[in-house]
Amino acid sequence: MKIFEVLQTNEEVECYSYGDSRTFDIELETTSGQIVGQIQCVASDNNGDALFNPDSILDDATDNDAYEAYTVYNIAIKPQFQKQGLGQKLYDAAIEQAKLYGAKYFFSDELMTVDAKNAWIRLSNRYDVSNKGHKKVITLSESILNEYDESKMVNVQTMLQTLLNDLPDGIPTPNIKIVNNRSANWIGSCIWGKDGKNSTISLQKSILFDEYTAKNTLAHELCHHAENMLIKLPWIKEHGIPAYNKYHKTLFPDHGTYFFQFAKIFNDKYGKDFVTEHSDEKDLIADFDKPIYVFMVKGHSPKILCAKSLTLTDKIKKYLLKKAEGSDWKLIETFDRKFSQLPNIGSGLGSYPTQIMTDKINDLWNNGKVVFSPETIKGVTIAPEKFYIFMTKGFNGLNYMTVSTGIPKKNIDFYSRLKNQPEWKLVRSDEHDLAGLVNRFIHLDRQPELNEVFNDLWNHGKVIKERG
Ligand SMILES: [Zn+2]
Repeated sequence: MKIFEVLQTNEEVECYSYGDSRTFDIELETTSGQIVGQIQCVASDNNGDALFNPDSILDDATDNDAYEAYTVYNIAIKPQFQKQGLGQKLYDAAIEQAKLYGAKYFFSDELMTVDAKNAWIRLSNRYDVSNKGHKKVITLSESILNEYDESKMVNVQTMLQTLLNDLPDGIPTPNIKIVNNRSANWIGSCIWGKDGKNSTISLQKSILFDEYTAKNTLAHELCHHAENMLIKLPWIKEHGIPAYNKYHKTLFPDHGTYFFQFAKIFNDKYGKDFVTEHSDEKDLIADFDKPIYVFMVKGHSPKILCAKSLTLTDKIKKYLLKKAEGSDWKLIETFDRKFSQLPNIGSGLGSYPTQIMTDKINDLWNNGKVVFSPETIKGVTIAPEKFYIFMTKGFNGLNYMTVSTGIPKKNIDFYSRLKNQPEWKLVRSDEHDLAGLVNRFIHLDRQPELNEVFNDLWNHGKVIKERG
């Protein structure tokens, strides 16, 4: 009896999303990497008719265009994992993803199996489900939670006008949508129809209670909007949409020269790194009730140098341990979102020229809640690291590997979709110390001294995933 395999092994299942806004897959995996189930959805029109053949979408493409609806293309749960509510979990994740891409409707597939019919009956207890032709459809309205005190919300329209005045003339006022989607990984987005229609900027309600975050997120989206209106639109008028579709990835990368041309206007006025490439991602600011950990170092100059982390992982502790000798530092906890603009710990240290930031930094150094100092970090023990090694094997044997400390979804996704791919495996090692090789691209031809280690891993390592 394998029916309750997931529960018996006490493994959690996690959802991973692959693909782009034209077609996406959600995979449900156990923590050890076993695939439990999968749902594939494709962008469709508002009758639920697919706009693409999901199998013909190229592997390397990323499309961020918005589509009105998504339709389930297929859904499957491995037999031994059925009847545990995992199907509902897959639907939930797919519905969330469709919302993230800005869709209004989520359709069932046309051929509804008995299982699918039952699944949709259960979905109708939790979603707004209706019938359209042979299909079921969910209307994806944004749920508004009442947990916010709206009187304390920033005035988005006033903020928008202020920021628009900073930008060159001739930019229309974009549409603004306030959404409340706590599971999204973005706090702002800018969607544009490229048919000349205005951009729509969406902002998460949760950020509208923090003046600084609201302002720099809106500014980030306005840089996209400005590029859409002042740069891309005239280009399309001259060259047409087919040419745009063909060349836009090279001519207008997501956060390219044009984006930063506008970002510079805001950064000159509101401070360095006010708008960055990532300033509309949730990871950067974390939940508002979670602290930001600020690593502060007093060097030779009077300036205090800083970096931040949103979590206190073993990796961070390891970094601090290395710094324990010979420098005057503190790791301090703060809830002030202004510190979210600091570089991440490990990717450099920043010093900030503005007086406001200097005052804040000095205050944090003198009065902040110290989590670790050079003395206290020495007593901390850190669990040995697990390494994941992604390996491919060609005709001549093992050829390249990458080592990471988490499951490298990108590689797996890439290789699982390519036809005629080489043999590949993702294995885990708890024994070999591969710390020095993490995030490096290793060609065994060029590093024969590693041959033995990797051959051993290929033959005896714990396989997380492999081709087929
Ligand atoms: Zn952006």
